[in-house]
Amino acid sequence: MTDDGHGFATEQVHGGFLPDTAHGARVPAIHMSSGFLFDDFEQARDRFAGTDDGYTYTRLGNPTNADVERRVALLERSPEAILVGSGQAAVTVALLGLLEAGDHVVSARSIYEGTKGLLLQNLARLGIEVDFVADQRDLDAWARAVRPNTKLFFAETIPNPKNDVLDITGVADTAHRAGVPLVVDNTLATPYLVRPVEHGADVVVHSASKFLSGHGAGLGGLVVDGGRFDWSRHLERFAHLTTPDRALGGQSYVERYGSRAFVVYARDVVASRIGPSPSPFNAFLLRQGIETLSLRVERHSANALAVASFLEQQPEVTSVDHAGLASSPYHDLAQRYLPRGAGSVFAFTLAGGEPAARAFIDAVELFSRMTHLGDVRSLVLHPATTTHAGRTASERADLGIGDGLVRLSIGIEDVADLLRDLERGLAAARAVTGREARPAPASEVASLAHTVPQGHVVVEEV
Ligand SMILES: *Cc1c(COP(=O)(O)O)cnc(C)c1O
Repeated sequence: MTDDGHGFATEQVHGGFLPDTAHGARVPAIHMSSGFLFDDFEQARDRFAGTDDGYTYTRLGNPTNADVERRVALLERSPEAILVGSGQAAVTVALLGLLEAGDHVVSARSIYEGTKGLLLQNLARLGIEVDFVADQRDLDAWARAVRPNTKLFFAETIPNPKNDVLDITGVADTAHRAGVPLVVDNTLATPYLVRPVEHGADVVVHSASKFLSGHGAGLGGLVVDGGRFDWSRHLERFAHLTTPDRALGGQSYVERYGSRAFVVYARDVVASRIGPSPSPFNAFLLRQGIETLSLRVERHSANALAVASFLEQQPEVTSVDHAGLASSPYHDLAQRYLPRGAGSVFAFTLAGGEPAARAFIDAVELFSRMTHLGDVRSLVLHPATTTHAGRTASERADLGIGDGLVRLSIGIEDVADLLRDLERGLAAARAVTGREARPAPASEVASLAHTVPQGHVVVEEV
């Protein structure tokens, strides 16, 4: 429940809505306008001075984009969010809002390859260092990696492809003991499965291109500030927020904006200068997706668990990385943080290695061969030769990404159809690895399909 008593499903369709006083449109307009008119000389001056909070120019703010920002902030139970053009832009804005040359980041190792590249190739050239924690469950390892110049911890709530769920509170407490915020990427969980700020995280980033949109029709990203980290307690560590700034007439961001200091700086000084502005058209598409988020994620999660359980029983499959399974080393964390489901992006490993993975991927018909996640359609990819092809075999082995590993993003289709398609893939994998064909487990497929709710009432429990 939020302060005014609304549950998640209500908030996702009503939250942050501002009535259209001019025309009464029920769905907010797409404001495809680079700039906004000033009534007169005075208003132009006031808008630039910030004493009139109307719009000026879309890179700095746009009503369609602001509508999505309000809604996602509410869903994450946070005061404020910034919409940007992609998930990569969101991570970049969040990190550049906190880091400068000479700083250090402690990050989970299992993060998205694009974020890893940002840290190792882009931010490294700006003089920012990073250490990766190999086993993110080892809180002592996080603490040991801290240095005097450490400025933040970074992790993902549900990393891909291994579904190795984060101990949000454990890592947040460790960060706070070191005097730094925890920034988490909540893309694969969405606020429907977990709201990291409620478990101690300080800043949440999203690729809105994935589940938040769901339709796979446009990119987007968000930086969400929980507003709880007390920047004023760390005067030297976050000097850009705590020391007088000429742009603020000699005040600091903390003096002027209090708990909003980081998000205002990230919006006004980072996002508006670097310029990863979202198109209002994409913001509109994203908004349409968010309105059905809980329904989709519920179906995604139920389908994924059914698929994971099915795969775990197949002789061609040596392991299934899904934290919803009792066999997962992350099952306890999933039960603690993700009671509604451990998401729908996970991997499984075929005994037959790359030839089996190739045969499997080429044989499926319903699954889309794609590098994308969180689409309403089911997707399949071979990480070793695509997303992780730039890593050495031993780096991939360290990450648990073998040649037989296949990544799935389970959609919202009828699960019986998905299981039949996977059967087709497994039969092809069997053929190339020369294993004995196993009788088609039709009854198994049917009974698993029945375990998936095909439409039931959502009871909100927050
Ligand atoms: C896709 C993704 C990103 C990058 O988002 P884009 O919208 O593709 O820029 C960042 N983090 C995670 C976890 C992702 O899955």
